[in-house]
Amino acid sequence: MESHDHLFKVLIIGDCRVGKTSLVHRYVHEKFFKSYKSTVGVDFALKALAWSDTETVRLQLWDIAGQERFTSMTRIYYKGASGCVLMFDVTSISSFHSCQKWKEDLESKALLVDGNPIPCILLANKCDLSPWQVSKDDVETFSKTSGFIAWMEISVKDNRNITESLRILAENMMATQ
Ligand code: GDP
Ligand code: MG
Repeated sequence: MESHDHLFKVLIIGDCRVGKTSLVHRYVHEKFFKSYKSTVGVDFALKALAWSDTETVRLQLWDIAGQERFTSMTRIYYKGASGCVLMFDVTSISSFHSCQKWKEDLESKALLVDGNPIPCILLANKCDLSPWQVSKDDVETFSKTSGFIAWMEISVKDNRNITESLRILAENMMATQ
């Protein structure tokens, strides 16, 4: 049987300290390339998913390293991206509010060939902590009105909903490619 590889570039964005690098470390048990000297200031990691008997999905995860303060990235970073993970920290209301700016920046720079925005999943991280500074209703409303494919509460610390959320994004990218 012939095998098919699907390679997707996935952006991991969100404010500083929300858990982006931790997510990548948790999710990717295999290769992790640290490229501190990269001109665009990103780290790359690769995750392979056995999709079917004949298909492999490869996710190339782009973790912004230290550029979060801009809430805006250069076009080089967004170029060729197929999907996006936007993260906030449930104990930080400011990291949730920033998501609006992150999403707008994404939509102004990363579009599919048909002109639609690339699929983006909203992840509410650190759900192991309490109290939350954000209500689930507010997250639900924001997710719906801003065109996210879904939102999920996750905990990188407790390994909760990590593979599940990236699976949802991968399924969406496979459907829209
Ligand atoms: P980044 O700046 O977005 O890359 O965030 P980091 O991955 O460096 O994480 C920032 C801090 O949050 C670190 O101290 C992590 O250990 C912590 N952290 C990340 N995910 C979780 C989580 O799910 N729960 C808790 N309690 N802490 C977390
Ligand atoms: Mg980081």
